[in-house]
Amino acid sequence: MAIVKLDTYTIEQIAAGEVIEAPVSVVKELVENSIDANSKNIVVEIKNGGKTFIRVTDDGTGIDKADMILAFEKHATSKIGNFNDLYDICSLGFRGEALSSIASVSDLVAISKTKEEEIGKKLEFKNNKYKESSIATNTGTSIIVKDLFNNLPVRKKFLKSDIAETNAISKLIYSLAIGYNDISFKYIKNGRVEFISHGSEDLETKIPNLLDPNLKDKLIKISANNDIYNIDGFISSPNYYRGSRSLQHLFINNRLIDSNIITNNIEKEYRSYIPNSRFPAFFLFVNTNPKNLDVNVHPNKKTIKFNYEDDLISLLSTSIYKSLIKENNPAEITNKKIENKQIPDLSNYQSLLDSYKSFNIVKEDAKLYENDDFFNEDKKIISSNKQSFNNNDYTKIKSDQQKSLLEGKFSYLYLTSIFGKYSLFKKSEDEIIVLDHRRADEAIKYNEFIKNMSNKSV
Ligand code: ADP
Ligand code: MG
Repeated sequence: MAIVKLDTYTIEQIAAGEVIEAPVSVVKELVENSIDANSKNIVVEIKNGGKTFIRVTDDGTGIDKADMILAFEKHATSKIGNFNDLYDICSLGFRGEALSSIASVSDLVAISKTKEEEIGKKLEFKNNKYKESSIATNTGTSIIVKDLFNNLPVRKKFLKSDIAETNAISKLIYSLAIGYNDISFKYIKNGRVEFISHGSEDLETKIPNLLDPNLKDKLIKISANNDIYNIDGFISSPNYYRGSRSLQHLFINNRLIDSNIITNNIEKEYRSYIPNSRFPAFFLFVNTNPKNLDVNVHPNKKTIKFNYEDDLISLLSTSIYKSLIKENNPAEITNKKIENKQIPDLSNYQSLLDSYKSFNIVKEDAKLYENDDFFNEDKKIISSNKQSFNNNDYTKIKSDQQKSLLEGKFSYLYLTSIFGKYSLFKKSEDEIIVLDHRRADEAIKYNEFIKNMSNKSV
């Protein structure tokens, strides 16, 4: 094919594809504009996953009549003046691409009025042409986007199901309602109000109310800072988890972002608490001097480059690690001595436990301790265990050590059993040995077998 210069319309459609990948990108760009316009109330309405209808209405500053058409031109923005402004940026938008891109891939209607203006104006875009008129309206802006990608059938084909597109939009709106706590959001899905969030509600109440009532009392406050970064927000406690990452929200300088590296590092801290393929919830707000960030990495502005990324990660990981440990304090074992309790038969484990005897062990008489609640179940198992120990596999391998325990020669202080599967022994003042019966049994059998092998008796 010979080289040709693409016409403006084609160039625009290609560029628009980078900003507007799916209905959720339209919603994101429109709501970000409403936030940048200092709105206090934002209403988001969608139909069919946003494919046929999206409307975002706000009560922000509005667009001046003189700027109305300009706002829909490429690279027209009121938010930066030159490239360096990018590194001081506090607004969410700056590329001046969203409105023009959306208008080039949909039928768009924009209505806006500033508080100085008596009457509002309406711009209707269809097939890349527009029509202007006046309209009575409140101060603020309302943008309606219909039939997204109708003029780009290939793109349209790649859209996900209505449900999947709706879910993506819902997650976004929930995130924004949490992240912009001073703004009230109303979210309407297929004609039904999904939620109304109130501005300035205490986040610890708002999060469970809006997202999951089970998060009540399961949120841990995080607050940490170093010379560069300041982190605030909430993480879920170690005994809460989800099947997906839907409740993970990260804001950097008020911008909702995706960061695999941060997510991975947070999830790493939960690894010893929650099962595989389950995910913690977090709502974290990181603040830093805008100079430490590059937000101009991708037109969708969801990826950010950090200076001093390691400092942020270590601050975050340490503070989450400490909070989780504190929250997950193991139940304290309060021991009450009880006399004259039968000692379960533990002789088979003597040699095994002996192999861990790397320190001087305080020899103590074997005494049974009891604690109140957690182990009570197991107590029953223990007291009836003598018999079962004798009958089951654990004790098949008899040895002359059998008696030594009952004669008080066993070197570890038996504390209790857990679920009838593990035994706890006190090794020294600050050491406890956990013995897994099944593994112990395997180990004993194995040692026996190896011994017999070397005796050639097998
Ligand atoms: P950007 O947000 O990057 O500046 P946009 O194409 O999203 O680019 O918007 C262009 C301009 O239109 C903005 O800079 C802003 O001045 C104006 N604008 C867009 N949406 C709104 C709104 N909801 N309220 C007030 N002004 C708006
Ligand atoms: Mg914008």
